[in-house]
Amino acid sequence: MGEDLLKQLNFVKEKIGNTANESKREKNEVKLLPVSKNHSVDKINFFKSLGFNEFAESRVQELLKKNELIPDVHWHFIGHLQRNKVKYLMRLQNLKLIHSLDSWRLAKEINKRAAKNDRIIDVLLQVNVADESSKYGIDIKEVYDFLSDSRNLSNMRIVGMMTIAPYDIDSNELRSIFRRLYDKRSKMIAKGFDLKELSMGMSNDYQIAIEEGSTIVRIGSALFGKRGG
Ligand SMILES: *Cc1c(COP(=O)(O)O)cnc(C)c1O
Repeated sequence: MGEDLLKQLNFVKEKIGNTANESKREKNEVKLLPVSKNHSVDKINFFKSLGFNEFAESRVQELLKKNELIPDVHWHFIGHLQRNKVKYLMRLQNLKLIHSLDSWRLAKEINKRAAKNDRIIDVLLQVNVADESSKYGIDIKEVYDFLSDSRNLSNMRIVGMMTIAPYDIDSNELRSIFRRLYDKRSKMIAKGFDLKELSMGMSNDYQIAIEEGSTIVRIGSALFGKRGG
């Protein structure tokens, strides 16, 4: 197991480094976030032994279970988050970032539960850039209003934006989606919002995402192999 994982990791790291280089970016501007959903605790522990201490999951139940078995890492939540599950995440002191804030009702729930737990929680606004790209995420046209309104939610801090690109499009379309989100972020920064992170890029499109300014790439299968192992 370890040999394969190491090979896959080295491959991905080299690609990230080279792509950053060619885009005149520093490679430490791009965080490699391993997406461990559907993958075993053994594999997570292997990456942990190599120094990784942040992992991403997309289902609350699975995250909680893995957290019991691997307590001393930090978790990112990247899946669609149902409001009735927010309270479970808020109890985890080692919850680092929610990438998938995709509605105003969810924002209010996160803020409320964070306040109850006396904490401020960092989130990314999930944006649906291509209209048909995903069921979830707010329309890119609504980003400014959402950010403005969220200033009143004092236990939740929006620290960037995230998008999931469609699978079935060509590289030009992909590039234009990532670029639109990057441009949107620049405009919002100019309006005074503090949006450090751009979570974009997965196993099949992370190079283009890095070329277009991604700061976090969410990599599952390219690191862990096929699902379920
Ligand atoms: C599963 C998942 C990923 C990782 O996908 P891979 O194609 O396996 O790299 C990234 N982001 C989100 C939101 C996911 O659900």
